[in-house]
Amino acid sequence: MMAAGGGPAGIGMTSARTRDRLIERLREHGISDAEVLERIRSVPRHLFVDEALASRAYEDTALPIGFGQTISQPYVVAAMTEALIAGRELPLERVLEIGTGCGYQSAVLAPFARKIVSIERIGSLARRARLRLRELKCHHVSVRHGDGLQGWAQLAPYDGILVAAAPDRVPAALLEQLAEGGRLIMPVGRGGVQRLVRVTYRDGRYREERLADVSFVPMLEGVTP
Ligand code: SAH
Repeated sequence: MMAAGGGPAGIGMTSARTRDRLIERLREHGISDAEVLERIRSVPRHLFVDEALASRAYEDTALPIGFGQTISQPYVVAAMTEALIAGRELPLERVLEIGTGCGYQSAVLAPFARKIVSIERIGSLARRARLRLRELKCHHVSVRHGDGLQGWAQLAPYDGILVAAAPDRVPAALLEQLAEGGRLIMPVGRGGVQRLVRVTYRDGRYREERLADVSFVPMLEGVTP
């Protein structure tokens, strides 16, 4: 499929086969939700990275997006999205995302929620992601410049919270902002390898499952312009 909104000339066409290859790889690694796979195929990931990296946009790897940050690896985005929506009635009403980065994960998530609030602590990235998401007509995703450690109480509770940066432990504020039956998917831990966990809130209790080992940038406090 041709990507909307321009981008490097012709990449939409030349990338068709590399996109197929990416989907095949995700399948082999255990991603089975057909809608998630189709969404990964259709979101133009090359528009979220610098033109110099566009030819690598459909490789299953994280890539730099400036400010010492990275666009998440497609497999990780797919796995987190799947962990959030599996077995649930869709679309979810309200989802909170922390660590917008370039907005790629938000774009993948977009069709699965009626409303998404995404928080990014680096102002320049937040502004850029906002533009990208507008271009891709993700009008129900609103990007906020702020510190996601506190969540976003104004719109709580959330059916889903998805975090793309790793704190030492699950922040209490995020647990408090989960709706009944809501799920929090996030990396937790110090150092290069963290554990991806899913916390489900039901009947006043939190149940934690360990999903995989992952590698995210650390969650930092405060904001930068
Ligand atoms: N999901 C993104 C990847 C983002 S990388 C994508 O698809 O591109 C993680 C992002 O989390 C970085 O942009 C980083 O600035 C941001 N981040 C780190 N700590 C944060 C915090 N406390 N609040 C909000 N964003 C944070």
